[in-house]
Amino acid sequence: MEEDETLQGELERAKVETHAAPEIGRRMSVSDFLCHCCYGILVNPTTLNCGHSFCRHCLALWWVSSKKNECPECREKWEGFPKINILLRDVIEKLFSDAVEQRKEDIQQNSDVARSLATFQKYGNDQMPTVTNTGRINPRGGGFFSGVLTALTCVAVVLLGYHWSSREFEEDLLVHKPVAKWTAEEVILWLEQLGPWASHYKESFLLEKVNGRLLLTLTEEDFMKEPYSIENSNHRKAIMAELECVKTLGVKPPQNLWEYKAVNPGKSLFLLYALKSSPRLSMLYLYLFDYTEAFLPFIHTICPTQEDKYEDVVTKLL
Ligand SMILES: [Zn+2]
Ligand SMILES: [Zn+2]
Repeated sequence: MEEDETLQGELERAKVETHAAPEIGRRMSVSDFLCHCCYGILVNPTTLNCGHSFCRHCLALWWVSSKKNECPECREKWEGFPKINILLRDVIEKLFSDAVEQRKEDIQQNSDVARSLATFQKYGNDQMPTVTNTGRINPRGGGFFSGVLTALTCVAVVLLGYHWSSREFEEDLLVHKPVAKWTAEEVILWLEQLGPWASHYKESFLLEKVNGRLLLTLTEEDFMKEPYSIENSNHRKAIMAELECVKTLGVKPPQNLWEYKAVNPGKSLFLLYALKSSPRLSMLYLYLFDYTEAFLPFIHTICPTQEDKYEDVVTKLL
């Protein structure tokens, strides 16, 4: 008895469901499926991100004339390329087939519409991700990976260009050349870079043709005697201190930004970005953690001291 009732109930429900569609059809009218652009029944309805639907050709006409990717009704921007809402189209075509057919015929005769639809579709095709033999690339993943690849390629090209352009210049730099191989001219170059005060002793170094090998053997006593005759003991000490530094490193220590860049190409590239995005913090970091190697060369390069002032400062310091 109970089973019979359940069966009866299910049958009733099935009957209601079967008849539901015509019921809805009778209650619905063309006015429920109007396009808010042309106020006719929706043909190939295309639903945008905002949820509003328009005839595809109405959207194409609007897009061609406005050149804006936005909803004609609420002006919200739409992303990607809008597609036909297949479910909505099928429902409308089933419910109001005559009205839709009539509209389609009218539209087909309009050459403006055909042109706009073609332009709109071409825009859509350009937006689509590339199709390869392996099938269609996932639009999100493909876009992301090709973006990363492009970025990496750009970085590689910049690094290579940077590397090659600086190579030629770097070969002459003493920061790369062992002291023992320095020529007499290069020793003079090193001496000049110690400061304007050191230039006074250039002549004697030139006369003696002091090359790298000879420089390494010189002691403070040698500098006191002829032909160097460096009488200022502070100058002697300064030269000896620099010479010790060169002996320890085997090459000239970097003293300006270009030499620093030649010795630490990776770090200087990193510093370039750090200084660009956060100059104060980067300078503080250099001051605290990299004073002699990076901070001082940086300051010396951007604030070159006047010669006379420099001499005063050196005299005070030494
Ligand atoms: Zn329309
Ligand atoms: Zn909208």
